Amino acid sequence: MTDTKSMYAALGVSEKVADFSEKILAGLKERFEEIDRVSEYNQSKVIAAMQKNRVNAAHFAATTGYGYDDFGRDTLEKVYADTFHTEAALVRPQITCGTHALTVALSANLLPGDELLSPVGRPYDTLEEVIGIRPSPCSLKEYGVTYAEVPLLPDGGFDYEGIRKAINERTKLVTVQRSKGYATRPTLSVKRIGELISFIKSVKPTVKVMVDNCYGEFVETIEPSDVGADMIVGSLIKNPGGGLAPIGGYICGTEECVSRCAFRLSAPGLGQEVGANLGLMPAFYQGFFLAPTVVASALKGAVFAANCYETLGFRVIPNGTESRHDIIQAVELGSEKAMCAFCKGIQAAAPVDSYVTPVPSPMPGYDADVIMAAGAFVQGSSIELSADGPVRPPYAVYFQGGLTWYHAKLGIMMSVQKMYEAGLLEGRL
Ligand SMILES: *Cc1c(COP(=O)(O)O)cnc(C)c1O
Repeated sequence: MTDTKSMYAALGVSEKVADFSEKILAGLKERFEEIDRVSEYNQSKVIAAMQKNRVNAAHFAATTGYGYDDFGRDTLEKVYADTFHTEAALVRPQITCGTHALTVALSANLLPGDELLSPVGRPYDTLEEVIGIRPSPCSLKEYGVTYAEVPLLPDGGFDYEGIRKAINERTKLVTVQRSKGYATRPTLSVKRIGELISFIKSVKPTVKVMVDNCYGEFVETIEPSDVGADMIVGSLIKNPGGGLAPIGGYICGTEECVSRCAFRLSAPGLGQEVGANLGLMPAFYQGFFLAPTVVASALKGAVFAANCYETLGFRVIPNGTESRHDIIQAVELGSEKAMCAFCKGIQAAAPVDSYVTPVPSPMPGYDADVIMAAGAFVQGSSIELSADGPVRPPYAVYFQGGLTWYHAKLGIMMSVQKMYEAGLLEGRL
């Protein structure tokens, strides 16, 4: 009884589903090798940045109060800056989430009368209220910052002519979202982001470009900051926290942009000098160290899920063979019932809260009910195995994370199992 298959049976995966999984996996050897190659490169990049900055045990000490002279925090910011090849970085537990990091970056670098442009269509749901696309107190719109948007072309390409027309004398900042978020458009590769930035700067060289890098870190060997982005922004309970950071966000970029962000986050005059680390440095350093391998696990899970569900006849984005530029896998399940079954399976595979059943409910910042499956050590962490999605057509679940590949694999097998048990895979398995 020491074989893995009987262990899977004990966890609730039927033989039929386990056999199906092995058949799918047999075809993914080369994809997995490529993921490991990228991960190995990125691991070296992080280690090199830590060595260059002479990271040592003193950097792990807790600070409280104002946090003056917190060299653990300051060195961590240098490690981030060196890894992402930027002049400066702001990496803080006081940044509560990705939306907060993006809000700081936007509001620090946009003043009344300025215009923000998104040349890649509608940004992530929670940013709609930040920008004021949906009215909200304290939105950028309330402060007199206007917003313009150019959708992607039907084939997913950039509408260069539309973008050229949209850039005007008030355009100050351009926001580019790397990941698809809750949309079903393709995620942008770093190379394509670079092409877009070059074009934008050729039209207006003084414009600043911010990239929402959520879910993209360490998926490729280069980041948007390597191809001209003035700021890259993300959450520490996603990729760069490596599953260990219990809170936080980062903004890496030019000295000019990042120092403004620090003044916005704390106060004019205080900037980066304040902000105690509250004992979180060990988690931040170690999480960043682990992040490249954690991201690789999540990517393997995403590729495996795509191939399973594509074979089962569902539309998956990206598809089974496409290259990857973030860790998100969308699966269009076509009904609320199927979303519930899928999420039930992910939940049932979790190390934490495996006995609960996810149900759709309202969420702040989202305009439809959202269903979420997550049995995470860090609440809401989506570098840990999780699935979620707004309950509206096309009833897509967004699947992401997995601190280990084996856990991601079990989660996907359990989702298939629950779909099967709900009678949703008749004749497909
Ligand atoms: C997760 C995410 C955000 C927001 O991050 P939160 O931490 O949930 O506030 C913004 N943009 C994208 C693309 C994301 O994936």
